[in-house]
Amino acid sequence: MGAIADSTATDVASGGLMASRCERCEKTYWYARPICSSCMALTTRTALQPSGTVYSLTTVHRPPALFAGRAPYQVVLVDCDDGYRMLAMAETPLSIGARVSIRSRKVADLGEVPVAAEIV
Ligand SMILES: [Zn+2]
Repeated sequence: MGAIADSTATDVASGGLMASRCERCEKTYWYARPICSSCMALTTRTALQPSGTVYSLTTVHRPPALFAGRAPYQVVLVDCDDGYRMLAMAETPLSIGARVSIRSRKVADLGEVPVAAEIV
């Protein structure tokens, strides 16, 4: 059994997004979690594939107070290349079907969150 994964979304050393993978059934989770909810085995941390395709999006015009200075901004659902559907903030205006890379970035006082940028 490997070390118990924590729920931290990012690898501080690399700045990359991290998930967890079950040591028994190999199911992978985003956000990372210490125990597999399918078979209850321990998980280990694994790096996510940082690219995907925009599945859907919306533009926020009336943001919560933390993002008051950012509006309008887009929130996108990204179908990641390794099988996840991830919610992310758009770094620049995106359209459905756009190919994006996803990085972790410090946003307001929320800490690190996924941010999508178009691959050109
Ligand atoms: Zn499992």
